[in-house]
Amino acid sequence: MFSNSSPLSGRTVLVLHAHPDDEAIFTGVTMRRLADAGARVVLVTATLGELGEVYVPLAPGETMAQRRVAELEQAAGLLGAQRLVLLGQRDSGLPGAADNVHPDALAAADPDRVARRIAALIEEEGAEAIVHDDDRGIYGHPDHVAAHRIGAAAARLTGIAGYQSTVDRDHLQAATHLVQAAARATGMEYGIPGDDVTLRLAATPAELEVKRAAIAAHASQVSPAAIPVADFDRAYGSEWFVRDGVPGILDELGDVTTTASTTSAAPVAAAVPAPV
Ligand SMILES: [Zn+2]
Repeated sequence: MFSNSSPLSGRTVLVLHAHPDDEAIFTGVTMRRLADAGARVVLVTATLGELGEVYVPLAPGETMAQRRVAELEQAAGLLGAQRLVLLGQRDSGLPGAADNVHPDALAAADPDRVARRIAALIEEEGAEAIVHDDDRGIYGHPDHVAAHRIGAAAARLTGIAGYQSTVDRDHLQAATHLVQAAARATGMEYGIPGDDVTLRLAATPAELEVKRAAIAAHASQVSPAAIPVADFDRAYGSEWFVRDGVPGILDELGDVTTTASTTSAAPVAAAVPAPV
């Protein structure tokens, strides 16, 4: 789809996520396509998802955090990230959990303080855009809501383009996606109406295969049965964004459908209690 092999060479995008596995589930195709076009992709993961459930036995002496870092490194490599930065905040757990207010919890951190760390990274890397969660945290998880606040603040501090990662809840009515179980756990609605999506990427078969491998790399969190090959395209073959401001680097990727011009169509920031 690109006229030469690296049309985005010399350009950098910072991708911010709350937990290991979010990068693959929500932005795997986007990251892989940016990397294939020559862009530098810097993945920033805020917590180690220490509170996730474990589906596989850990090795003797191995911690959940160690396992999740290993899985994240594997997924990041598959998706073409050239640098992985771990912010080292603690997983905040589900809404209302005591972990929400742990001193190291991402949800308890001052978003402006963390945003200044991200802004420094953006400046160090010369990144021109940041990808972060939508303003409802995609499915209301306190860490995802925090990742939105931090990412949006970092974009404002640096003046770069912001792309809010989300899911099209209308599209997913006909599919089984991990976000649905996640939303049942938080008790929140997931995603936004399709009409509010400003940018959609449709995966190529090769990108879809890489995305599935990257999700599967998070084997402590995702069982192979949860991402069956037969239904994978329907659930994971698209990635959706709400763009803040003027079109930027993600709009230059192929197979982009732009359905609205700016964030005037952003979802209403209602019904998500502030993490405490
Ligand atoms: Zn997450």
